[in-house]
Amino acid sequence: MVQGLSTVEVSTKSLKMTEAGASGGKSPDKRDKYLMDLMSKQESMFCVQPLTWCPHLEKVTSVPPQGLDTSSPCETCGDTNENWVCLTCYKVFCSRYVQEHMVKHHEIEPDHYIVLSYADLSVWCYGCNSYVEHELIQNAKKTACKHKFGE
Ligand SMILES: [Zn+2]
Ligand SMILES: [Zn+2]
Ligand SMILES: [Zn+2]
Repeated sequence: MVQGLSTVEVSTKSLKMTEAGASGGKSPDKRDKYLMDLMSKQESMFCVQPLTWCPHLEKVTSVPPQGLDTSSPCETCGDTNENWVCLTCYKVFCSRYVQEHMVKHHEIEPDHYIVLSYADLSVWCYGCNSYVEHELIQNAKKTACKHKFGE
């Protein structure tokens, strides 16, 4: 009986000591891992952060006087689900998730870099492979937004 109790006491004590020792030794590692997780999360956040300027913005031309029709079909395949408008020539083509006709348009017209999504009104630059946010494209965005959601 007495012996049994003391065994429990000893094992609890040694367990506590082990825990204390382990957590004391491990906490810097844990903190490093936490920081690394945090940094990698921030890194992926930076990846979706749009550029605030890019050299291809000079290829953007002004919005045509008739405005933008966000329900326009793809000029090549007629799909209406997920289209982009080229902000250089204002032709409309489907996304890489449909038949990639906007990607093809950029291959045919390599200096047409910047396109506006009629699906979510984001602006993509093929030259930078990144989203872009800039004053120069605000008017196109606004015009598309007006047509898409009305005012
Ligand atoms: Zn298409
Ligand atoms: Zn174009
Ligand atoms: Zn660019």
